[in-house]
Amino acid sequence: MVRLIEGLGTPESSWQAWGGLAALDIFDLHPLPASAVVVAPHPDDEVLGVGGTLALLHTAGVTVRVVAVSDGAASHPHSPTVTASQLAEIRRAEQNVALGRLGLDGIQIHRCGLPDGHLDRYEADLADTLTGLLDEHTWCLATWARDGHPDHDATGRSAATAASHTGARLLSFPVWTWHWAQPADPRVPWSTARRVPLPPVIADAKRHAVHAFASQIEPLSAQPGDETILGPHVLARLTRDYEVILL
Ligand SMILES: [Zn+2]
Repeated sequence: MVRLIEGLGTPESSWQAWGGLAALDIFDLHPLPASAVVVAPHPDDEVLGVGGTLALLHTAGVTVRVVAVSDGAASHPHSPTVTASQLAEIRRAEQNVALGRLGLDGIQIHRCGLPDGHLDRYEADLADTLTGLLDEHTWCLATWARDGHPDHDATGRSAATAASHTGARLLSFPVWTWHWAQPADPRVPWSTARRVPLPPVIADAKRHAVHAFASQIEPLSAQPGDETILGPHVLARLTRDYEVILL
């Protein structure tokens, strides 16, 4: 279904050899917002994309909330060992553990329960939900509307709509872009890309958090249909000692 994210994608070594990421301007978290809402199409996108940034904001006293748009029940549609509802339960639990490892335990998670793989059908509903959670003092961090996964793109569009209605500041983050894009790729708006450096303790906490997503980073079983979703080549692109946001 997602041609852009077939295969192994652009290796992290290519991104690092480019030098363009290291040269990005740093995003100043100050002045801090009163609150930040991160919108995750699947349980893990918030940690993979901006987990370190969320930890920094939380540590600085910003109220961080997560909007979990789907429960990620469609990651293994042909699994012979786990049903979709079991997978949803597993992934909700993994998300809670991962956020805890970033020091974000106890934060509010708003679970929309929209169907994984079909978020484009619920764009207006999600925009309405987000509009109720945002205001002009809030940052809205969401997957980039051209990230290349239909759910991520739909989520990005909903967030953009809600941000424009409320005056919230929209900060987009790439996840699958790192897979399909190339260094200096003209499809990526590099001029609005900013880097959020992560202190070592935060970068380490993020890597630890990512390992909570066992259902995604390991096979569910040795049987066909239970394959790893996020292999080491994917994680390498998402566990740098900085994160990238698009203004
Ligand atoms: Zn996702």
